[in-house]
Amino acid sequence: MPLDTRARPVVPSVGLQLQLDSQGRVLQISGPVRHSLAHPLSGSTARHLSEYLVPGSRLAVEGPPSEWHGHSLDLDFTGLGATTLHLRGWAQPAEDGWLLQLLDIGDLLQERQQAQTRDTCQALAARCSEQLRLCSLTRLPQVLREQLQDLAQHWRIPCVAIALLDEAQQDWRIHSHYHAHDAPRLWHTDQSLGTGLDSLDGSRPHVLHGVQSAGLDPRLRDIFAHAEGLLVPYRDAQGIGAWLLCGFYPAVQPAPALGERDWLLLLAALAGPLLGRLREQQQQQQLQRLDALQGLLGSGWWELHEGVQLAPQLARNLHLEHAHLPLSEWLAVFHPVDRAELQSRLQDLLQCDRPLLLSVRLQARDECQAPVWYRLQGQMLQLGEQRRPVGFMLDISDIKNQQQQAAAAHARLDNLIASSPAVIYVQRYEEGALQPCFFSDSLLPLLGWQLSELTETSLIERIHPDDRDLYFVRTRQLLREGSVRARYRMRDRAGDYHWLLDEARLLRNDLGLPVEAVGLWLDDTEATLATEQVRQSEERYRILVEDSPAMICRYRPDLTLTFANRPLAKYLEYPPEQLPGVDLGSWLSAEQRAAFLLRIQQLTPEFPVSTAEISLQLPGREHAWWVWSDRGVFDDQGQLLEVQAVGRDNTEVRRSQQQLMQSAKMATLGEMATGLAHEINQPLNVMRMAVANMLKRLSNGDVAADYLQDKLSRIDTQVQRAARVVDHMRVFGRRSEIEQQPFNPTQAVEGTLALLAEGMRGKGVELRIHHLDIEVQVRGHVDQLEQVLINLLVNARDALLSKREVQQAFEPWITLRAEADTRAVRLWVEDNGGGIDPRLLERIFEPFFTTKPVGVGTGLGLSVSYGIVQNMGGQLSVHNAEQGACFCIELPIVPPT
Ligand code: ADP
Repeated sequence: MPLDTRARPVVPSVGLQLQLDSQGRVLQISGPVRHSLAHPLSGSTARHLSEYLVPGSRLAVEGPPSEWHGHSLDLDFTGLGATTLHLRGWAQPAEDGWLLQLLDIGDLLQERQQAQTRDTCQALAARCSEQLRLCSLTRLPQVLREQLQDLAQHWRIPCVAIALLDEAQQDWRIHSHYHAHDAPRLWHTDQSLGTGLDSLDGSRPHVLHGVQSAGLDPRLRDIFAHAEGLLVPYRDAQGIGAWLLCGFYPAVQPAPALGERDWLLLLAALAGPLLGRLREQQQQQQLQRLDALQGLLGSGWWELHEGVQLAPQLARNLHLEHAHLPLSEWLAVFHPVDRAELQSRLQDLLQCDRPLLLSVRLQARDECQAPVWYRLQGQMLQLGEQRRPVGFMLDISDIKNQQQQAAAAHARLDNLIASSPAVIYVQRYEEGALQPCFFSDSLLPLLGWQLSELTETSLIERIHPDDRDLYFVRTRQLLREGSVRARYRMRDRAGDYHWLLDEARLLRNDLGLPVEAVGLWLDDTEATLATEQVRQSEERYRILVEDSPAMICRYRPDLTLTFANRPLAKYLEYPPEQLPGVDLGSWLSAEQRAAFLLRIQQLTPEFPVSTAEISLQLPGREHAWWVWSDRGVFDDQGQLLEVQAVGRDNTEVRRSQQQLMQSAKMATLGEMATGLAHEINQPLNVMRMAVANMLKRLSNGDVAADYLQDKLSRIDTQVQRAARVVDHMRVFGRRSEIEQQPFNPTQAVEGTLALLAEGMRGKGVELRIHHLDIEVQVRGHVDQLEQVLINLLVNARDALLSKREVQQAFEPWITLRAEADTRAVRLWVEDNGGGIDPRLLERIFEPFFTTKPVGVGTGLGLSVSYGIVQNMGGQLSVHNAEQGACFCIELPIVPPT
C-alpha cells in the first residue's frame, strides 16, 4: 500500500468563521473547515472556544475575546480522527459579540516541516554514506550497525534491518540490524527471508500491517504478523540491491515526517556505499583466494603484451626477478627440449588463434632434482578492440613424476609377471561361468598354451581326468566364498602333466555381483616330486630304523620316550606303540639314572654326542649292559629339545670281561697256592704239635686239666686262623657284584694281608706297612682292588725271591703305604727287588706280557689290574725307585653324601 501523505481530510483553504459571545463561547460555526472539526456545534449549551482546541494552543485564548483583539492567533483545533487542524486568524467585534476569522495554514506548516525533515534527512544520508565509504573494510560491519542505530534513534524506529541478497543472488538475508533495547526481536543476522521481497514493486516503499501483508512470502508475513512495518527498496544499475526493513513503526499514523523520496534517499545513502564496499571486499577476498591458490598450485596467469606479463606469484615460482619481461627471457626459463615446440605453438596462437595446450619442463636448476613440469594453456582474449594472448601455467610436476613412477612400476610389474614362474590369469564372470580372458606371458613357457587355446571348455579338457572334480569344486567354492586354493594337474602342449597350485580371488562390483576372478597358477610339480621323494626317503629311514638290529629311540631331556624302534621295544618286552611316554629311567637304578641325567645335561650344541656303558635292570631277567650313544637335538637358543639314542647290547662282552677277570682272579689264587698252603700248613703244624704233645701226656697219664685247656684253646685259635684264610679265599673267588659300591680302600689292604702276610713271612719277605688308618671312600668292587694288590705283592715277591736265589744274603722287603688328599687316595707298593728293565717299563701292562718262564707267568696280572683301576676312575702307574719297582694305585675319593 502506498504511503499516502494526503491522508488528511482535504479541506479547501477558505477557512473557518466562528461567532463568539463576549465570553468567548462559540455560538455559530461556518466555513468549509467546520466539517473537519471533531466537535460540531452543540445545540443546547455553547462551549468555550478553548474546548475546540488541542490542549497546547488553549493558552492563546484565555480570557474574553476583547483581550485577544488585535493579535494574530495561531490555533490548533482538534480535528476528526484525532487529527490537528492548524488555523491562523484574528478576532474582530461583531454586532452581538465577536467574529473569529480563521484560515487553514496546515499545508504551509507541513511544507515547512517537510523541508526541514528533508534537510535533516539529507544531512543524515550524507554523513551515513561518507562514514560507510571511508571506513576500513574491517570496521565496515561495526560502522553499518552504528548508522542503522543512528537512523533508528533519529526516526524512533524500534527495529531496523538491512537485507541483502546472499552470495548465490537467490535468497534475501538480514545483513545487519539494530533494535531498541526495549523492542522485541523481529529478526537476527543472516536470517533468511526467502525470495518474497522480489515480488514487491522495487520503485517505492511499502507499508506493512498485519492483514495487509497477507499476500507476502510466509517468512515475511511471520515477521510482520504483529508489527506494523515499512519496507524500503534500493535499486541500482544491477537491479534491486537492498531492502531496509523497519518494524513496529507506524508509517501511516500519524503521517510520518519522511516521504517516499526521503526514504529512498536515505536507503540509497546507506545501501549504495555499503554494496560498493561489500563488492570491494568480495573482490579483495577473491584476489587473496586466487593468490593463495596460485601459490599452492604453483600456477598463475601470463599475458603477451609488450613482452610477457606474469602473475607475481608465478614469476616468483619461476624464480624470475620481474613479472614483466621480454619474451626471450621467459622462453629461457624452459628446458631446451621443450623450448622450440613452445615457441612454435605460441606462433600458432598469435597467427591462427589456435589455443595452446602443452606440458613443458623447466630448465633444470639442480641436476639431481626431479624435473619441474608445467602445463601451459593459452588462448586469444578479445578486449574491446584489442586482442591479447593470455594463458595460464600450472605446476604438474607431482602428476608427471607420479605418472613416470607409475609407468616405471608398471613396467617392473609387467616384467615380474612375465618372468615369474607363476601364471597370472583373469577369468570373466559370465552367467555363472568363469571365462578365461587374460593370462600372463609366463603361460606359454610353462604350459605351451595361449589364451585362445584355453577357453572354459578347453581348459577343463586339459585338466587331468582324475582332477576335474577338484576343479569344479574349486570354481564353486570361488563363487561362493570369494577365494579358493586348489591343486590339480594340467596337461601341457607336449602332453606332460604339471601339478598346478591355483589361488584365486573373486572381484565383485558395487552391487556385490561377481565381475571377474583373478588368480595365479604356480607349477609345483617339482615340489610335489620332492615331497614324494622326502616321503619315500623318510619311509626308507623308518624301515632302516625299525629293522636295525640296534636299539634306537628318541627321548626328551626328562627321559620320557617319544619314539622307540621295534628291537628296543622287543628287548624291553613292551608293545612298541605303548613305549612313547614311558620313562626310560624306570629301567635304571637310582644311581645309574642320576649318572645318566648328569651325562645328558652335559650335552651342548658344540659337543652334542656322548657315549657310555649303562646297565639296565630288567625285572626277572639277567643284568644287561648296553653301550649307549646319545646325540642331543637343540633349539636356536641352544636349549636341549630331544635326545636321539642308539644302543647296543654289550652284556655278552661284559660277561666275557667278567669271566676274564674271574679267570685272572683264579690264576692269582693259583699263583698264591704255595703261599696259601703255607698259610694253612702253619696252623696245621701248630695243631699237630699240640695234639702230639697232648697224646704223649695222655699216654703218660699225667694230664692236668689246665694243660689240656691251654692246648685245646691253642688249637682253636689255629682252627679259626685257617678258617679265616679259607673264608677269605672263598669270598675273593666269588664273582664281583654287578654295580660298583663305595668302600674304604684299606679294607682291600686288610683282605690282601689276610691272604698273603703269613706266606710272605714264611718266605722271609719283610712286609713294611705304613699309614693305613685313612678314612676315605672309593667306588668300585673291594674284591677287585684286593686282586690288584695281590697281583702287585705277588709280582714283588717273585722279583725278590728270584733276586735272593742269586744273592743268598739279600734281605727282601715290601713296603705298603697309603696317603690321601681331598681328591684322591694313593696306595704305594714298593719293593727292593731291583726294579724293572727301563726298556720294558712301557710294556708290562700289556696283556700276556711276562718275563717269567712258560707255565709260571700268565702276563695277565698287571693288564687286568690296570683295567680294574681304570674302571674305578683311577690310574695304575709304575716307576723304578732306588732299590726296586714302585707301583702306585691312584683312586678318586667319593665325597660322603
Ligand atoms: P706275570 O706276573 O704273570 O708275569 P704280570 O702282568 O703280573 O704277569 O707281570 C708282568 C711282568 O712285569 C712280569 O713278568 C715282570 O717281569 C714284571 N714285573 C711286575 N712286577 C715287578 C716287580 N715288582 N719287579 C720287577 N718286575 C716286575
